[in-house]
Amino acid sequence: MKTRRFGRGLVSLGLTALVVLQSVGAGAWGNEGHTYINRVAGQKIPADMPRFLRRAVVEIAYLGPEPDRWRSPTEFALKNAQEPDHFIDLERVSWLDPLPPGRYEFYRKLYEKRAATTDHPDDYLPEHVGLQPYITMEVYGRLKAAFREYRQRRAAHQPTAAVQQAIIFYAGWLGHYVADGSQPLHTTIQYNGWMGPNPNGYTTEHKIHAQFETAYVAANIKDSDFAGLGKSPERLDNPFAGYVAYLRQSNALVDKVYSLEKAGGFTGKGTPEAFDFTTHRLAAGSQMLLDLWYTAWVESAVPVATEHPVTPPVAK
Ligand SMILES: [Zn+2]
Repeated sequence: MKTRRFGRGLVSLGLTALVVLQSVGAGAWGNEGHTYINRVAGQKIPADMPRFLRRAVVEIAYLGPEPDRWRSPTEFALKNAQEPDHFIDLERVSWLDPLPPGRYEFYRKLYEKRAATTDHPDDYLPEHVGLQPYITMEVYGRLKAAFREYRQRRAAHQPTAAVQQAIIFYAGWLGHYVADGSQPLHTTIQYNGWMGPNPNGYTTEHKIHAQFETAYVAANIKDSDFAGLGKSPERLDNPFAGYVAYLRQSNALVDKVYSLEKAGGFTGKGTPEAFDFTTHRLAAGSQMLLDLWYTAWVESAVPVATEHPVTPPVAK
């Protein structure tokens, strides 16, 4: 069975190898990149968003790597359920454009494709294709619902401390997946060593993923290196479509990651070109996160339509 990403064979590798894997390549961007992306976005929360959130930068930064803390085999059900959340192999769903907005419709399309495929049909299993945009929109939805609750409690002069905690958690958790999406190798079948025809002679070793996102970033980049690259947040007209477009932009840069690696861009101190590329990817992650927070906040002011209004019983 094909188990994606860094879960492969962890149990048999034993505890020592587990510690090594978790420290050098347990998830997109590694600990540093995830913390940076969340922190930079947190520092740019605009004054027209709640003040408690602008003051929660430390908590938001801490939560950047949170889902990577859910990958231990000691919590098997959790590890198993959430691993596909961190990536999507967009090449496997090139026939499905636009992507359906809900995960179960996505599953159904993939199972139909699998049933019609004779060559490696299991490549189309949802857990092998990855569920990146779905978990992202689901956490976005939680954040928006919590913002709505916060607004209602404020309006009713009720305590808001508990909902504030929920909002901080959802905002930080969301940051993890949005950051994964800015890492091109989380959007592709070429996620860790080139597969198939290889006219450019890219590396086929299973090292590039952690080398780029974890070792290179930790050794060479600070959050201040890209904090100035962002702009004020924008409200997204259609968050799901906007997010999928962002993933496609990331996927278009897969080739660039491999060519930079080939030129030694991520070895040791790397190259100026690799630094420029990486800081711009980290900035793209922070910007999308800030835009999603802002959109969730603005849209949470829109009242939920009551689909089935309850008619009060007629008093006798
Ligand atoms: Zn991840």
